[in-house]
Amino acid sequence: MSKLATIIRYFRTPKRFKSRRSIVKLQEKAVKKHIKFVRQNSPFYQKLWDGYDDSQWREFPIIEKSTMMENLQELITVDLDVAQAKRLAEKAEKSRDFSSKIGPYSIGFSSGTSGFRGMHIVSEAEQATWAGFMLARGLGSSIFKKHRIGLVLRANSNTYESIGSSRIKFLFYDLMKPIDELHEAILNDNLDMLICPPSVLSYFADKGSKIAVKRLVSAAEVLEETDRQKIESHFGLTLHQFYSSTEGEIGATCELGKLHLNEDIMVVQKEWIDEEKGWYHPIITDFRRKTQPIIRYRMNDILVSSKTTCMCGDAREVINSVMGRSDDVFHLEKLDGSIEMIVPDLVRRAVMQMSDEITDYIAIQKSPELIQVQLKPDGLGELSMTAFDDLWSTKAVRPPIVEVTKYIHIPSTTKLRRIYREKFSSDD
Ligand SMILES: [Zn+2]
Repeated sequence: MSKLATIIRYFRTPKRFKSRRSIVKLQEKAVKKHIKFVRQNSPFYQKLWDGYDDSQWREFPIIEKSTMMENLQELITVDLDVAQAKRLAEKAEKSRDFSSKIGPYSIGFSSGTSGFRGMHIVSEAEQATWAGFMLARGLGSSIFKKHRIGLVLRANSNTYESIGSSRIKFLFYDLMKPIDELHEAILNDNLDMLICPPSVLSYFADKGSKIAVKRLVSAAEVLEETDRQKIESHFGLTLHQFYSSTEGEIGATCELGKLHLNEDIMVVQKEWIDEEKGWYHPIITDFRRKTQPIIRYRMNDILVSSKTTCMCGDAREVINSVMGRSDDVFHLEKLDGSIEMIVPDLVRRAVMQMSDEITDYIAIQKSPELIQVQLKPDGLGELSMTAFDDLWSTKAVRPPIVEVTKYIHIPSTTKLRRIYREKFSSDD
C-alpha cells in the first residue's frame, strides 16, 4: 500500500513548471481544499481562523514553533495523545530504536540546537508520499533503475526504510557511531547516491575520502558556499541539496544545482527582512501535511531570494542560499545604545578575510562585547582584522573584542553551526 503511494507520488511530482501562473493555480486549488479539511479537524486552527473566510487564507494569523508546540494536542487532526507521543520520541532518541510508532503514526523530534525542540507526527500515508516526492526530486534517473541510496542521519527515519524495494535499497548510517567507522562502511557499501550533512562531507573531503557515488546530496544542515566548493572539487560532482526541516521539505536542487522552493507542495510567502537584498523569513503553508498541519507558519530561517528565473526552465522560485536562522544573527550595540543586527553572511566574509589559509571556522557571539572565532588549521600566523574593523565602522557599532581560539568541532550528532549568538543576559 505505502509503496504504491510512493510510486504514485513519484510520477505525479512535476519535473518542472512552465510558468508562475500554473504554480499559483495549483496552489490556490490545493490550499482551499486543505483549509476546509483543517478547519473541520483541528480545534486549534478552527479557533485561530475564527472570523476569517477560507478565501482569506493568505492573511490568516501567523504561527511560530513555540505556538505550535504549546498547542500541539489541539492542533493535530488525529486522535493521538501528544504526551504519550513525546515520551515515545524521547525514548527512541535514547535507544536509537526508531521503529516504535503509535498506531500508523511516527513521532520524531527535530535535532534543534537551541530553544524549543520541534516534534513532528506523520502518518504512514504521508511518509510514503513524501518518499515518492523526495525520490522524484532527488533521484536524477528513473525509479525503475537499481539504486543503492545511503543516508547519513542523526536519527533514523522509517520514512525511507518503509519504501525500500528490490530495486531501491536504502542504507542507513547513524551519526552516533564514530565518523571514521561510518566512512569505512560507506566505502564498502558501493552506493549510487549519498545523502549526508555537509559538515560530514566536508570532513570526508579533508580526509581525502575515496567515496565514489553518482550523486551526492547535502541535507539536514545549511550548506555554505565554502563547503560546497570544497566538496564539489574533491568528489568531482555537482553537490545537490535537500533543504528541509521539521516543518517540511522546503526545497531541492534542479539538475543545474540551483535550489528551487518546493512550491508544488507548499506556498512560501515572504516576510521581508531586507527586500533590496532579497532576505526574508519564509512563511510556509504546506498543503500536503494533514496529521500536523503547517499553515502560515513563520520559519526562523533567513532565505536569500535569487530574484531571477533558473536556466533549467522551472518556474519554481530559486533561492541563492539559506543564510541561517534568527539566532545566527549577531546583535551589536550601536553608539546610541540601540541594537544593530549583523547577518551571518557578513560575519563569514570578515572571518574568511582574516587569512587565505583558513580551511574551517566557527564564530560565536558570546556577549555584546565578545566574539569568539575558532580557526582551522592551527597556527595561521598573522591574521587580518581589517574586514572586521570595516564592518564595525560601516554598521556604526561599538567594536567587540574578537578572540581567536583553537577549532574544536568534530562532526557528530551535534549539528554544525558555524555562526551563532549565544544567549546572554542582556538578551530577551
Ligand atoms: Zn533550476
